[in-house]
Amino acid sequence: MTELSDLPLRDDLKGRKPYGAPQLQVSVALNVNENTHRIPEPAALDIVGRLAAAVLEVNRYPDREFVELRTALAKYLGHNISKEQVWAANGSNEVLQHIFQAFGGPGRSSLSFTPTYSMYSLIAEGTGTKYLGIPRGDRYELTEDLVSGAILQHRPDIVLLCSPNNPTGTPLDLGVIEAAYEAVASYGGILVVDEAYAEFAHETSETALLLLSDRPNLLVSRTMSKAFAFAGARVGYLAADPAVIDALRLVRLPYHLSAFTQAAALGALAHATELLANVDDIRFQRDRIVLELQDMGLDPFRTDSNFVLFGGLEDSHRVWQELLDQDVLIRDMGIPGTLRVTAGTASETTSFLNALRAILGG
Ligand code: PMP
Repeated sequence: MTELSDLPLRDDLKGRKPYGAPQLQVSVALNVNENTHRIPEPAALDIVGRLAAAVLEVNRYPDREFVELRTALAKYLGHNISKEQVWAANGSNEVLQHIFQAFGGPGRSSLSFTPTYSMYSLIAEGTGTKYLGIPRGDRYELTEDLVSGAILQHRPDIVLLCSPNNPTGTPLDLGVIEAAYEAVASYGGILVVDEAYAEFAHETSETALLLLSDRPNLLVSRTMSKAFAFAGARVGYLAADPAVIDALRLVRLPYHLSAFTQAAALGALAHATELLANVDDIRFQRDRIVLELQDMGLDPFRTDSNFVLFGGLEDSHRVWQELLDQDVLIRDMGIPGTLRVTAGTASETTSFLNALRAILGG
């Protein structure tokens, strides 16, 4: 059998590890920040009808410009965003890849504040873009000074701010985003604010979408994978200046959003209220996790997301394994003494909390 090392792989990919969140069959999976609620059956049936209609026309390529979907996404986003300002792809991971293909690449650089979403460095590597991770401040918080200082020192072509941040959950003030933009715009870089978890924030009105007008180098990415409970469909999207959208058109593959993806996403957006109905409950479970972890003497970090990173564990990997032994899968992000758990349904959350109490008490 051929080994990877036998292949004429690009030198800069040699020795790299692929994205690798474990996919295990367990009763309680709270490891990849999904919305663990299924979508309601009436919405599911409507989506099936739309998919069936799409099958009948599948001999033709889909709308390459996915105009109907961009119109529906713009309407969902509000803030006077027009369809000309909207882009979409197969998950916000692909949106990020388009951004790196258009604005990064060999000889160019990117920067983010670590720990942060692991795909930033992987997409940078995949596109031959240099990636610099600047450590976050105390308790993973970012300040205007820390962010502007790092940007002005390194002058990267692409800056990524994850708001709220994965895996720490840390909220981000609009003031910090404004300061980052000022720094990036001073030399003509691109600022990406990744709002994959925006709908779970305590103050959902605090979105970088508010900053879009007059900031042509600001890109705000979102996803249907989290709040919309639509991870399996693979739909991510972005709002930015129409000129940015034109730049992304240069690198996307033709017809990158299949007829089925477009039909399913339009169905989901038509049922947005029902699909988003569980967001409040997920927020409640998230806040409950924070309180109960504190009650166990653990140290949860400030979170505006649908997950909680918590410290205070002596042997975090052992606790992760013991939870798995009880059929509860959460995530060990490799940050010593910490684990990350997604807020699930009330009953999944209870299973996690009970299992953890038993492990720590035992
Ligand atoms: N951004 C962040 C911060 C994420 O955590 C994730 C998924 N875990 C994504 C983007 C990508 O999500 P998707 O490709 O499913 O839209």
